Amino acid sequence: MTYDFDLFVIGAGSGGVRAARFAAGFGAKVAVAESRYLGGTCVNVGCVPKKLLVYSAHFADEFAQAKGFGWAMEEASFDWPTLIANKNREILRLNGIYRNLLISSGVTLLEHHARVLDAHHVEVNGQRYSAKTILLATGGWPQKPDIPGIEHAITSNEAFFLAQLPKRVLVVGGGYIAVEFASIFHGMGAQTSLLYRGELFLRGFDGAVRQHLKEELEKSGIDLQFNTDISKIDRQADGSLLATLQDGRQLVTDAVFYATGRRPMLDNLGLENTAVELDERGYVQVNEHYQSTEPSILAIGDMIGRVQLTPVALAEGMAVARRLFKPEQYRPVDYQLIPTAVFSLPNIGTVGLSEEQAKAAGHNIKIFESRFRPMQLSFSDSQQKTLMKLVVDADNDRMLGCHMVGPDAGEIIQGIAVALKAGATKQDFDDTMGIHPTAAEEFVTMRAPVER
Ligand code: FAD
Ligand code: NDP
Repeated sequence: MTYDFDLFVIGAGSGGVRAARFAAGFGAKVAVAESRYLGGTCVNVGCVPKKLLVYSAHFADEFAQAKGFGWAMEEASFDWPTLIANKNREILRLNGIYRNLLISSGVTLLEHHARVLDAHHVEVNGQRYSAKTILLATGGWPQKPDIPGIEHAITSNEAFFLAQLPKRVLVVGGGYIAVEFASIFHGMGAQTSLLYRGELFLRGFDGAVRQHLKEELEKSGIDLQFNTDISKIDRQADGSLLATLQDGRQLVTDAVFYATGRRPMLDNLGLENTAVELDERGYVQVNEHYQSTEPSILAIGDMIGRVQLTPVALAEGMAVARRLFKPEQYRPVDYQLIPTAVFSLPNIGTVGLSEEQAKAAGHNIKIFESRFRPMQLSFSDSQQKTLMKLVVDADNDRMLGCHMVGPDAGEIIQGIAVALKAGATKQDFDDTMGIHPTAAEEFVTMRAPVER
């Protein structure tokens, strides 16, 4: 049987674009449908605009420190509309780059919503296409709990397009997006509270990292409220919002920002026309080759709910393209030791096991920890501290995990991740010369384990 396409990709985000471009490069006939924005979540309402906003928020600290280094300047002021306009222009430029990348790779680009009709057919803008393989890469969407007044709350999707910076913001949630946006709003001058339902935010991260970030965010002036949640939100006559908490307290604010996780984007995707099954969490169920329970339909990225990070979606897209069209180059995605950064201010950078995970896995561990005041703060009153932590297997000296909270933690941990991937031991770290004077050199100069 002949098909219109060898591969029909639904979704031109991180994973879909990577799979489509490489499959076309390997000689396959490929189409991509995109309903919303080229580049997907990461480029339009995720990693990229978020990092631009984090850069902007960070200037508040830099201005405060500059005086000690001899710089004099007039009172700094911040203009949100300028930032958003510049951000929008940059994203438009990136959308154009993605369009050119796809077209110049020979991919047929359909800028409309796609709906699966059966195991080998997709409908786009009233047109029916056949494909030997359909690749779902439709990503995720923010989810908010169903409480009265939730329609007054925003998510990351809307936050990137607010006309004005709210003066007061309540951020709800305790994951990546909540702590990143709390830092963004606070850095830009909004009075910011973060409300999390549990004991301590960033569940799953190393305990010392979570505690250290809590202390640093509190020092910076963010109001952290744990073991708390909103039960309803009311719009008041003056336009402000009144959030009633489960313990009965009431908080007045200008914006309530929900960062309470994301669901797979399956809206009007037509999966009911196929044998594709979802797992118990509602994500598309796939095997080790990203093949769903409908053999001709594959799925990758956020919608399979494994690790919701852009580099992981890219790796999955690449693996699919290679396995189908360049099998001699195929390598399965390695989900071990995925480094990650949380772009809060200060940043978290982490790779490998937390102390808690290492213990739970039965390792006999040694912990090395260092807390210090970054040199850049020498002439300022800021009491901000950096944390670095190593989790080492005491039986064979293998480095199990490296964690950092401090400026540029993401940049520093990327290199450390290579060392862990190569199987580095603590002795390898000790034998490595430091780069002086840097914060990063602390990772190779921690000599005495922490007594527990
Ligand atoms: P997406 O990039 O979401 O792409 C899916 C695409 O499919 C979208 O363009 C969508 O419009 C399209 N689509 C959906 N349904 C259809 C349909 N039926 N027809 C046609 N098109 C459709 N990750 C990091 O690694 N680092 C970060 O710093 C980071 N920051 C983030 C910040 C925020 C605020 C958010 C929300 C996410 C962040 N992420 C970050 C996560 C990262 O964005 C995702 O893991 C990544 O984008 C997932 O890629 P994907 O290909 O699975 O889906
Ligand atoms: P996360 O899954 O990371 O965190 C969701 C948070 O919301 C958790 O603290 C969770 O609490 C809380 N929560 C969930 N449901 C409710 C509820 N009904 N009421 C109150 N609180 C609730 O999701 P995010 O939205 O922060 O981010 C989604 C994913 O995107 C991340 O996991 C990450 O993979 C990716 N991302 C990556 C970034 C990066 O690489 N820097 C940046 C931003 C996003 P609990 O812990 O108690 O369940």
